[in-house]
Amino acid sequence: MDSQVKSNRQLQRAPCFSSAGQRAEASPSVIVIGGGMAGLAAARALHDASFQVVVLESRDRIGGRVHTDYSLGFPVDLGASWLHGVCKENPLAPLIGRLGLPLYRTSGDNSVLYDHDLESYALFDMDGKQVTQDLVSKVGETFESILKEACSLTTPPHLHFCGLRAISMVFDRRPDFRLHGIAHKVLQWYLCRMEGWFAADADTISLKCWDQEELLPGGHGLMVRGYRPVINTLAKGLDIRLGHRVTQVVRRYNGVKVTIEDGRNFVADAAIIAVPLGVLKSKRIKFEPRLPEWKEAAINELGVGIENKIILHFEKVFWPNVEFLGVVAESSYKCSYFLNLHKATGHPVLVYMPAGHLARDIEKMSDEDAANFAYKQLQRILPNATTPIQHLVSHWGTDENSLGSYSYDMVGKPHEFYERLRIPVDNIFFAGEATSMDYPGSVHGAYSTGLMAAEDCRMRVLERYGELDLFQPVMGEDTPLAVPLLISRM
Ligand SMILES: Cc1cc2nc3c(=O)[nH]c(=O)nc-3n(C[C@H](O)[C@H](O)[C@H](O)COP(=O)(O)OP(=O)(O)OC[C@H]3O[C@@H](n4cnc5c(N)ncnc54)[C@H](O)[C@@H]3O)c2cc1C
Repeated sequence: MDSQVKSNRQLQRAPCFSSAGQRAEASPSVIVIGGGMAGLAAARALHDASFQVVVLESRDRIGGRVHTDYSLGFPVDLGASWLHGVCKENPLAPLIGRLGLPLYRTSGDNSVLYDHDLESYALFDMDGKQVTQDLVSKVGETFESILKEACSLTTPPHLHFCGLRAISMVFDRRPDFRLHGIAHKVLQWYLCRMEGWFAADADTISLKCWDQEELLPGGHGLMVRGYRPVINTLAKGLDIRLGHRVTQVVRRYNGVKVTIEDGRNFVADAAIIAVPLGVLKSKRIKFEPRLPEWKEAAINELGVGIENKIILHFEKVFWPNVEFLGVVAESSYKCSYFLNLHKATGHPVLVYMPAGHLARDIEKMSDEDAANFAYKQLQRILPNATTPIQHLVSHWGTDENSLGSYSYDMVGKPHEFYERLRIPVDNIFFAGEATSMDYPGSVHGAYSTGLMAAEDCRMRVLERYGELDLFQPVMGEDTPLAVPLLISRM
């Protein structure tokens, strides 16, 4: 009999996953911690492979940083909203395609404005005067030249500069790149866009983020009906326990014990940790024994940035028929931009998206004040703006379930930390956007890591159950990574 079929039969016969005290010896079971995209992808894959799976999720909803809100009477994403890479190579493409979910493409490949094409913008200065499209394009070209020049300052070490320092070094070398007046303000606005893309300030982003970022082809597509249907599809039929905040993970040779806030324990053969990097950094989940030093270093040395969304719902549209409205200013902190959802969805909604320091400062405000702040920015450029009838405000930085929006490379830190964060430790496996070497900070990156963790976990558990005829190591022998071996006896 084919070993796969045999193992599946045995798994189906095996008793269900259960709480401590009831667990049967021969029950291949996995606890997935975190019901976001990565955790649900992992749970789905293991469930479909006949494993007993339970998902422990701290919030009273699934999806994590994929959060489609319906309270306005139509779907609006407070977290992720774009599919970055509208192409068949995108691991999420088959699922999104199968569900028939429409996408609204906001840019083609390699746009200087990341997920937007230059033609789709209208930029204004603080006095409401529109910047000519010609100037916006010219400054865009200069911005790209500055970044390219920055990357060529010297070989690899330049990548350890932060974006801001590198730019000022380029200005010293190439004074002709310096811009003044309104052109300077437009340049600051490009910086503001870069900060939004990486969810961090230009003085903390490593230049290599920009230089070495891998993007899938096909440009960027907005999920017109929101991301929620994708989450629902993955979650269908899974055993998901909402309101279960994990506080401790104990790993032993023969299994894991996971404790939640109210003291209840869950046991299984293995666990997949799919909580955000911000939560791992906060040490709100205790690991026993402690995680190895190389793993803790990865947790500490990767950056987590903030980007938020302030959704403004109006009675009717009063703004120009463009995809993005931008406000240019003296510094990137003072610049801002609004996504015009009306273009993609037909609803009269603008989405204000602050990032980095500005996002942190706005998170200190009440929702009312935050919405007012966004509205004031809008009034600067469109004095006839009507007041919003409803608003929604995200708090990804202070929400204890996320503690940040997504990960980025900090200055001077190797990109390999993403891989170190992914590598399993005994019978615990790691998934989530910050464990994706190729596509960190994205939904499809999170999804892929969930599938990877599930496969690693499946191999490991079946191996222990003596069901795996062909053992394949999790890491190939020729891996370039120098993660110390776990040697139990010196
Ligand atoms: C404002 C914003 C805009 C974004 N825009 C895009 C975009 O357009 N396109 C894109 O591709 N990506 C975007 N992203 C990034 C994308 O949302 C994330 O990369 C992805 O959703 C992360 O998925 P994840 O499963 O790794 O983590 P999460 O989705 O954060 O899932 C982790 C889960 O763990 C739970 N959890 C936390 N602590 C505990 C605990 N102690 N016990 C149990 N459960 C716990 C959380 O509640 C959460 O459900 C955006 C993110 C933000 C914040």
